[in-house]
Amino acid sequence: MTVAMISHADSGRHDTGWGHPEHVGRIRAIPRALREQPELFESLIHHEARHADATELALGHDPAYIESVRVLVASGGGRLDPDTVVSEGSWDAATAATGSVLDGVDMAYSGRAIRSFCAVRPPGHHALPANGMGFCLFGSVGVAAHYARTRHNAERVLIVDWDVHHGNGTQALVENEPEIRFISMHQWPWYPGTGAADDRGPHRSIWNIPMRPSLPPEQYVAALEGAIDDATAGFEPDLVLVSAGFDSLRGDPLGGFTLELEHVESLTRSLVERATAWCGGRLVSALEGGYVPDRLAEACLVHMAALR
Ligand SMILES: [Zn+2]
Repeated sequence: MTVAMISHADSGRHDTGWGHPEHVGRIRAIPRALREQPELFESLIHHEARHADATELALGHDPAYIESVRVLVASGGGRLDPDTVVSEGSWDAATAATGSVLDGVDMAYSGRAIRSFCAVRPPGHHALPANGMGFCLFGSVGVAAHYARTRHNAERVLIVDWDVHHGNGTQALVENEPEIRFISMHQWPWYPGTGAADDRGPHRSIWNIPMRPSLPPEQYVAALEGAIDDATAGFEPDLVLVSAGFDSLRGDPLGGFTLELEHVESLTRSLVERATAWCGGRLVSALEGGYVPDRLAEACLVHMAALR
């Protein structure tokens, strides 16, 4: 199975400063770690993504918001909220992040790479239709779900988000479309404060799995697997999208989950197996959080190896 690793040099141009947890060192750690694993490196298609354009971003975002980000970047940068820095390179980085996931969808449908991992930043799953927040500018995975439906006639899309934080932005981008189902497992109570279990969205197409911190890792795995079973009963996805946040690993400074690399591997394999049964294996995964760079990189490598 040929897996693509999709990235873009512009990811490094989103300059949040070294004091910010979502700094450029996160993304640099991934190719550095990959150089130590030549067998994995050689097995991947290495793809430099395109930038998403404003029309594509508008599949999930308010055009006035998209323009406001562009204007803020053109003026030299600023902040979208106290946590969400925008620098001169942020438009190019954020549109490349979304473009990466869209390229992943295109490659899944063309057959060039049935599965891919997008090693990108900034993350996207907190970005609301008309507001950036929580380090996120554009909701790459939410936009990609709509893109798969409009561009590739996907009828049903499943999104699985195992970042330690609730994917509130993704939920907001997709909850009005009943043929996109979204599962988010996240620490509770925790940032951003949303994602209660009874918040199912207007079409009951949302599965929120709030979890306490510091549980045995098997409990997180079982809860997520159970939610995937529920969400896909009578709903066979044409495409699986993954918001792969590795801040759900033990020791992350921004979360209290306890997953280890072996759980990243088993969750990935489980999704590959399910995607193979549902839709010929089509799966596109995108990096979200994860704030210990070397640990994040190790997790990305385990994840990519298990996607093969
Ligand atoms: Zn997170």
